Amino acid sequence: MKPSIKTQGSTESILSYIRPEVFPTPFCPGCGHGILLGAILRAIADLGWDMDEMLFVSGIGCAAWIPSPHFAADTLHVTHGRAIAFATGAKLFNPALKVVVIGGDGDLASIGGNHLIHAARRNLDLTAICANNYIYGMTGGQVTPTTPLGVRTATTPQGNSEPPFDLCRLVAAAGATYVARYSTYHIRPLIRSLKKALTHKGFAFVEVLSPCPTQYGRRNKLPQPGEMLQLMKEECVSLQRAEGMSEEEIEEKILIGEFVS
Ligand code: SF4
Repeated sequence: MKPSIKTQGSTESILSYIRPEVFPTPFCPGCGHGILLGAILRAIADLGWDMDEMLFVSGIGCAAWIPSPHFAADTLHVTHGRAIAFATGAKLFNPALKVVVIGGDGDLASIGGNHLIHAARRNLDLTAICANNYIYGMTGGQVTPTTPLGVRTATTPQGNSEPPFDLCRLVAAAGATYVARYSTYHIRPLIRSLKKALTHKGFAFVEVLSPCPTQYGRRNKLPQPGEMLQLMKEECVSLQRAEGMSEEEIEEKILIGEFVS
């Protein structure tokens, strides 16, 4: 792919990848999705890629708004949960296209969960970025398959009683050949991981823990975005650091890093 920018990763170069007329974003103040939006563009800028040779596919939900309408690129904004299916079709039609799916946990892991595991099983040459905020944000704060135990949502007012998926373990077990998890707090390793995922041949999956102060935080006594980022900092532990920890110590932690690479 031909580079279309001179200064890699700079704010200036990233600005050439966005549609200025759609800013400010529709995200609530403090939403992690704006940080993720910037991280994805920074990764692409670092790679020096031409957005004309990329396609971004998203379904429904707050995270689906990250590429569409913000990115100055071709975007497909499709039905709820079906982003991977549409992305598969686009990739089959034009294998030279770099196809990137961006969605939330409700979109990719619940309604689109079947597409996710089968894309991993087939090791399709796609990059999937899942902004996991543990809740359906746009549709009203319902429980998702990643909502932690005990968390209050619109549909679990007494606290979620169902065990959540570990998305990285799920997708890795299904056959994905690049799998990683970071949060919007861990911005530098996240950008490095996104670059690896984008250049990976095969199904690459990056889970990005992204705070939702509006639907998740307010219901769970964490209304301040800073508190949510602080919690991510405290709860996340790298796979390398976890090697030296006991099972009891790891139990309450969220592992971040590359699960398959
Ligand atoms: S509802 Fe949550 S995920 Fe959606 S924009 Fe607001 S803070 Fe972000």
